[in-house]
Amino acid sequence: MGQIRNIVILTGAGISAESGIDTFRSAGGLWEQHRVEDVATPEAFARDPNLVLRFYDMRRAAIQEKLPNPAHFALAELDANWKGGLLIVTQNVDDLHTRAGARRVLHMHGEHLKAWCTSCDVRSHWRGPLIERPPCPVCQARTLRPDVVWFGEMPYRMGEIYAALREADLFVSIGTSGAVYPAAGLVRNARDLGISTLELNLERSQGSDWFHETRLGPASEVVPAWVAEVLG
Ligand SMILES: [Zn+2]
Repeated sequence: MGQIRNIVILTGAGISAESGIDTFRSAGGLWEQHRVEDVATPEAFARDPNLVLRFYDMRRAAIQEKLPNPAHFALAELDANWKGGLLIVTQNVDDLHTRAGARRVLHMHGEHLKAWCTSCDVRSHWRGPLIERPPCPVCQARTLRPDVVWFGEMPYRMGEIYAALREADLFVSIGTSGAVYPAAGLVRNARDLGISTLELNLERSQGSDWFHETRLGPASEVVPAWVAEVLG
């Protein structure tokens, strides 16, 4: 690891799975007999806002009951001790990286614990439900929606992610399925830039062939082991 200075880490559902946070995918793509497309799209929100808000109210409440696991804590330790550049890009909308103590975290798919006012465009920290249409803390309009990137919407801060990648010496993907773009394309961007690439995952992913190295196992084991190696 002597030549490594700047690291970009992409995390996905696999890092939060051991904290008990499931995904649409692990649930067979269904929630209460609703397809993903019926609860996680702008069209669904326009058609049946109560359904969508109820779903996200449940998820928002649920994640607050969960705790970070050793993989989150290991990345927080890396963040605290790594002198070079580091960016933890997460596809997860939970706050477990932050609760573990990590600071250099970018939520490319938004956050359960924020509400986005579509009237004044301000994002506010939010812990309670949205189903009763509470007023925006800034403009009082009752136009808050989950600050979560839905299917068909653009992920956040891609410019910052690509900029960090251009400066990086190592790209690490942890617990991602390799199925959701543009996140799944980051390893290809990294390869195009000549960056070393490492995958830590429970099992081989759709994108595994793109990585120089893949280490398989539960995130709570392979991530702390890798961080210990990097920090030497
Ligand atoms: Zn507002």
